[in-house]
Amino acid sequence: MQYVESVVDLIGNTPLVRLNRTLDLPAGTGAEGPLVLAKVEYLNPGGSVKDRIATRMIEAAEASGELQPGGTIVEPTSGNTGVGLAMVAQQKGYKCVFVCPDKVSEDKRNVLKAYGAEVVVCPTAVAPEHPDSYYNVSDRLSSQPGAWKPDQYSNPNNPRSHYETTGPEIWEQTEGRITHFVAGVGTGGTISGIGRYLKEQAALAGREIQVVGADPAGSVYSGGTGRPYLVEGVGEDFWPEAYDREIADRIIEVSDADSFAFTRRLAREEALLVGGSCGMAAYAAKQLAAELAAEGRTDAVVVVLLPDSGRGYLTKIFNDEWLARYGFPTSADEADGEHAVQ
Ligand code: PMP
Repeated sequence: MQYVESVVDLIGNTPLVRLNRTLDLPAGTGAEGPLVLAKVEYLNPGGSVKDRIATRMIEAAEASGELQPGGTIVEPTSGNTGVGLAMVAQQKGYKCVFVCPDKVSEDKRNVLKAYGAEVVVCPTAVAPEHPDSYYNVSDRLSSQPGAWKPDQYSNPNNPRSHYETTGPEIWEQTEGRITHFVAGVGTGGTISGIGRYLKEQAALAGREIQVVGADPAGSVYSGGTGRPYLVEGVGEDFWPEAYDREIADRIIEVSDADSFAFTRRLAREEALLVGGSCGMAAYAAKQLAAELAAEGRTDAVVVVLLPDSGRGYLTKIFNDEWLARYGFPTSADEADGEHAVQ
């Protein structure tokens, strides 16, 4: 019989899927490359890349004694880390309380509740030092007896989980031929852990790998001051400890409009129903591929990490009224565009 003891045993070992039509590479670039491969993290059982860090952070806290039997996990999260933590915590018998900013979709909050977690919603429009900010509310809740705050922003087990699982998977799946790695930056755990592993392996093989961060316009990683943007889960208004400033060779800034339009193209043309930060990262990968194609780099193997599924954004990125409200092109505009070229 083939089965696992628990769904949490299915975390990791996600596939690479080649991006084809959305790359718009010039005719004649041919089948040989640059090859752009998407690491599809929504295939984790909790639906995102964050299942990986949840497992590693909880196991480390159990080992250190910070998390005791019957304890409560308290975390400020935009949803995905919450799902991973809720799933692993439930299976291990811990309670979970999550603190979310109000811009997080109701769908995402309901998923957390479905796993049996409690959700506390805080206003986005206040500074991090404000008592109602989601950082401060979670600090208050996590100082209760029996509470433990994983703090994905500073927990070394966040980047470590990627150094130990996602990085090695990508290296093996590409048979060590990866030349460029692209990821969005939120806490920085993904890019720092994977980037470090890949750079070390490449150095052992006597070559280099380029690590490219994708960032929403306005966020600090691409030189912004923390001005608001709508793409969820990426960009920051401060520099988290989980982000290793030495790893990214380059940061590509992507506007909300480009992130959302490309997220919709991934669903319609690659049948990849993914979230807005995936559209953002894949748009950066597409730009990179165009540059590499222009340089004749047919040997290039670009891996872009797609963190989550589009299911949590059906009322936003995949909803025409929402797009129109913020002045983004809707499906009617996209259809007009198609008529115009016919
Ligand atoms: N995309 C989404 C949807 C996320 O929730 C996150 C995590 N905040 C990221 C990307 C960025 O990953 P990381 O925190 O590892 O930088």
